[in-house]
Parts: sequence; structure tokens; C-alpha cells
Amino acid sequence: MLEPHSFAHGRWIAPGANAKTIASPVTGAAIARAGGSDLDFGAMVSHAVQTGGPALRAMTFHQRAKMLKALAVYLDTRKEGLYAINPLTGATRRDGGIDIDGGIITMMVIASKGRREMPDGHVYIDGDIEQTSRKGTFLAQHIATPLQGVAVHINAFNFPVWGMLEKLAPTLLAGVPAIVKPATQTCFLTEACLRMMIESGLLPEGAIQLIVGGTGDLLDRLGAQDVVAFTGSADTALMLRSNPHIMRNSTRFTAEQDSLNASILGPDAAPGTPEFDLFIKQAASEMTVKAGQKCTAIRRMIVPQAQLDTVSEALTERLRKTTIGDPADDPRMGALVSAGQKADVLEKAAMIGIEAEQILDASAFDLPDGPGFVAPMLFRCNDPDAAQNIHAVEAFGPVSTLLPYRDTAHAAELANRGQGSLVASLITHDPQVAREVTLASAAWHGRLYISDRDSMAEGTGHGSPLPHLVHGGPGRAGGGEELGGVRGVLHYMQRTAIQGSPDVLTAITGQWVPGATEKPAPQHPFQRTFREIEIGETITTDPREVTLADIEHFAHFTGDTFYAHMDDDAAKANPFFPGRVAHGYLLLSFAAGLFVQPDPGPVLANTGLNSLSFQKPVSPGDKITVRLTAKRKTQRTDDYGEVAWNVTLYNQDADQVAQYELLTMVSYER
Ligand code: NDP
Repeated sequence: MLEPHSFAHGRWIAPGANAKTIASPVTGAAIARAGGSDLDFGAMVSHAVQTGGPALRAMTFHQRAKMLKALAVYLDTRKEGLYAINPLTGATRRDGGIDIDGGIITMMVIASKGRREMPDGHVYIDGDIEQTSRKGTFLAQHIATPLQGVAVHINAFNFPVWGMLEKLAPTLLAGVPAIVKPATQTCFLTEACLRMMIESGLLPEGAIQLIVGGTGDLLDRLGAQDVVAFTGSADTALMLRSNPHIMRNSTRFTAEQDSLNASILGPDAAPGTPEFDLFIKQAASEMTVKAGQKCTAIRRMIVPQAQLDTVSEALTERLRKTTIGDPADDPRMGALVSAGQKADVLEKAAMIGIEAEQILDASAFDLPDGPGFVAPMLFRCNDPDAAQNIHAVEAFGPVSTLLPYRDTAHAAELANRGQGSLVASLITHDPQVAREVTLASAAWHGRLYISDRDSMAEGTGHGSPLPHLVHGGPGRAGGGEELGGVRGVLHYMQRTAIQGSPDVLTAITGQWVPGATEKPAPQHPFQRTFREIEIGETITTDPREVTLADIEHFAHFTGDTFYAHMDDDAAKANPFFPGRVAHGYLLLSFAAGLFVQPDPGPVLANTGLNSLSFQKPVSPGDKITVRLTAKRKTQRTDDYGEVAWNVTLYNQDADQVAQYELLTMVSYER
């Protein structure tokens, strides 16, 4: 008998006398005792806020990203321990792959995004400097800093590992501690994974805690710096988000809840096309993976009226091949998570049956005995416009309904009748259909998955939320967003507009802002190591005259003989130019010639250039000078880091003629 423990204020706490018995969905036997212990929720919040939060906030984004990566690598080495108990949730090994490996990969991706897209500092810079003064002495910059409270994650039963890790990764990367509350039915798998994370020793004290069982008065203790991230039913979400403390303190509350996801077969995807086959394959897989207990599963299949019969036949034929059995034997489909869930699914399927004809039921299958087993249930609704339940009732199991549509606009209208979903897919080889459906429907869905013969081999799947992409949806889907790369991290941070002088903004962000103090470099910056270079270090070069001969030489050498450089009359007729002017790329090349120090040194490579703008034409006879200022440093490995330089080119009248950000890789040590 498993005895999942809570992990509160640094201690493991066993199930109490009133623990709930969890029954196997496969055999009905008791498999675990969970909850029923008296947890001190006040002490848990204090532990997170006073110990976990400060420890996490002392780390930079990159340090936290490295910690997440190490954690993911560690879990990967121990994941077989999780796969061993995965069948007790009713899930097959394939289902477990989405949950366990899916969770680990999600953590890896968020870690890598943190390293690549966030600074090695404590302040995230959101957008560009806002020029709010004429002379540039008073500027503004949006920044984001970690919330100083705790994130409470309330998770659904269907993904005990992924559901935890997909919320934890962005939370910890933001620098916020978390209290995880898994659904009781599958909490033993979550506990096993969280226990591994604690045993890894990689997390600071107080960074994560676990509640097995109820949340008691936890939500009443939350305030303005806390976040609740919920996944589960719409009813529970509504009840929790209506908590007066949450409303009074404007505690952030994100919900990911019921979703009547749709898949549309394009009007062009007739039988015999690769798209038709793809639709059938995807539809069958989405119905049976995790026995349909996926927040993204397809509940409504919207197909052209003319194809309704063919799709019905092809899909029932494919679904009939589904083997159902003990998940430990690795059949195609395992069991629902519990007898209670089975009762709920059958009740919801009956509501759908009021409006639709069931064209595939249990009689077509060899269904094992056991409290959680159900067969795929396929319905067909001939009048989707009049139907209500089809668009409103989520049967959280292998249940889906076929709906016919008249034209593309009608297909989008039916998809939107779900009143907000996590994902809708469209299988079409016609980009115009894709555009029409997107314009008519994107506002109702968190993600649109459009696939055809060209992309299907690399398609990531209708039902797979990716860490890079937003996961969430409007309306019935909860109105929240999770994941989405750095977007998901920002849900645990506060955006603040900082107004001040360039020096103030530079000190706060650690990134040099034009107008801030420039320090003379003690040595040519190309001779300084990554460690030595200081933000604001500047060199100004000698001037160089740009001659007509230079322009002509560059034109013939490169082949860029555009009239603005070669034909004085034609150039003068152009409102932008006073006559023949230097090529912008000639100026860039001259700039490099002016600021480069040619000797071997710590600078390893020029890796790119951002935000190039040419602001004023340079005429033959003008003299240009270059100013190079160290703007931003990002350590990439132990051996080297990226230095971004602000480069400005001036003419003899001190007018700025060009500006860009130059990226170089620089050795950490000499
Ligand atoms: P619930 O909404 O009942 O539970 C979700 C989570 O909320 C669980 O961790 C649950 O814990 C917790 N919870 C329930 N009541 C409270 C409370 N009063 N205070 C604090 N936490 C609470 O959903 P289920 O998991 O039972 O699933 C029910 C239905 O929800 C499904 O049939 C499906 O329709 C939908 N669902 C949708 C999902 C989606 O992502 N779209 C995902 C999962 C479910 P405990 O288990 O201890 O009660």
C-alpha cells in the first residue's frame, strides 16, 4: 500500500487517521492511503515566503535555469521509478510517456529558454527604452521582477507529473517558491516525483512543498504577491476563484479547465488525400491516448457534410482495432482513473446521446472487467446547429462527436460554439481555408494546429501542449495561459514601469542605456576578457573620411551599383538623398575597420548585429567617427560569454548617422 506523504516546511508528513483510500482503476483493490493529516498551512506559507522566496530571488535567472536543467537531468536518470507506478493511475506506458518524459522535457525547454532569452541577472527587461523626454535625460523602461509570495499549484488527476512540472518550471525560473497540490486520486505519482526532486539536493530549502489531501484554509492566507494556478473542472475553478481573500487581494488566479476542443476536416481533404487519412489517424489517437482524459483531446470532429458517412466509417473501423486492457500489459488504451470518473463519463456521454446517435459503443470491444474500463464512444450529430449539450458537456474520456458543416464559415462557427477552447485543429492543404478559419476562429482558441501533407511528418500533434507555446484558452477553457516560453514565466512576476535618468536605468537593469555615463576603457575593449569588460566601457575612434573613390570602389567590388551611390542626378531626385551617398554597408565596414583591434585576443567571434538603423545619409567628403560602448554581458558557458556593444556612427557635425547593436563572443579568461 502506497503512503504518499505531504512535504511541508521541510518535513515529510505521513497520511493521517482520516486518510482517503485510493482504489486501483484496474482491479478495484486499495492501492494507496492519502491525506488526512493536519497540515499547518500558515507555516507552509511562511516557509515558502521567508525561506524559499529569498533563496530563489538571490539567484540570477541563469542560475535558476541551470538548476532546472540539472533537476530535469536528474529526474531523467530516475524516471523508471515513476514508470513503475504509472499503471496504477490507469495509464499505459505510452500515456506515461506524455506525463513523465513530457514533464521532464518541458522542464528542460523552459530551462533552456531561461538561459537564452533571459538575462544573467535579477531583472527581466520587457521591451525597449521609452523615450519620454526630448533631450533623453528622463527615460522609462518596463521591467519584471519576481513576486515575493508563493505560487499555489492545484493540479488535475490526469497528468500527475507533467501537470506539476509544467507549472513548476516557469515558477521556479521566475524566482517564486511553490506549494503543489495534486489531485488525490493520482497524488502518489506526483509525490514520488517531488520526493526525487527533494532528494536531488538541487533546490534551495523552501522552494517546493507538497500537499497531499485538502488545502484547508490555505487560500484564505493568500495575498497580493501570491498566485494560484489551477487545472481541473470549471465548477472547482469558479468556487476557488470566488474566494473573498483572492478577490480582495487581487491574487492572481489562472485556470485551465473544461474545454470542448474541435478538429475540422478541411473542405479540400476528400477521401484518398493524405489529409483525410491524417484526420482519421489523429482523431482516433486523440480519443484513445490517456483514455481520452486529456484537456486537449478532441471532443467535436467537424467534417464537410458530404464526407460525414465516409469519416464515420473510416473512424469506427480504425477505433474498433483499439485494444483495451490492464495498462501494465501495454494495450492501446488503459483505464479511466477511477470508478467515479467512469460514472461521470458515462453520465456525460448519455447527455450527448440525447442529441446524437452513438455509432460506436462497447459492443464492438472486448472490454475487461474493472472499475475504470470504458470503450471508445463515437457519436454523430446530424443537426449541430440545434444541439446544445454537444457544445457544452465535456465527457472526460474516450468520447467524441462527429458534426457536419456546410461551408468554412459554418465550420468555424461550430468550433467557436465550444465557448472557448485550449486547441482546435484544422486539417487542410489549402492555405486560404487556413486563413479563413483562423480569422473566424482564433479568438476562441488558445492554440490553432493546422496540418497537411507537407507538415504532418514533423507535426507535434493536436493534443500536445508545447513549453514554447501558450497553453490555455478563453472562456470555458478558463481564460488563463500557462507555458508559452518566457510568457509563462512572467505570470509569476510583476511588470513595473521604471522612470528615471539613463544612469538610474543602467544601474537597475544592468544594461547600458544611451545617455548613461560612459567610462573610458583602460585598454582597447577587444583586448579585455569577458570578466574584465565593464558595462559602459567606451572607446571613440579617430575620424575617417568617406571619399567618392571609396563609394565607387565599394560599388564595383560588391556589385551594389544602386543609383543613389552612382548617379548624382537620380539620387538628387530621391527625396531621401542630397546627391550620391555612401552605401550603408560601406559605413558598417568602415566602422569595423575603425573600432577593431586586429591582434589575437579574448574576442572570439562576431556573432551578429541587431537593430541596425541608418539615420542620416553620408555624402562623399563626410568624416565618420565610431563610438563603441559595452551594453550587455551574458555568460554562455564557463569559458565564454556574449558581449553586446552599442555602436554609433557620427559625422563631422556630431550628427548620428547610424546605430546598431554588435554581438561578440568573448573568452571568460585570457
Ligand atoms: P476537480 O476540479 O474536482 O479537481 C481538480 C483539482 O482541484 C484537484 O487537485 C482537486 O483535489 C482540487 N480541488 C477540488 N476541490 C477543491 C477545493 N475545495 N479546494 C482546493 N482544491 C480542490 O477536477 P477532477 O480532477 O475531479 O476532474 C473533474 C472534471 O474536470 C473532469 O471530469 C474533467 O471534465 C475536468 N478536467 C478538466 C481538465 C482540463 O485540463 N481541461 C483536467 C482535469 C479535469 P482533490 O483531487 O483532492 O479533490
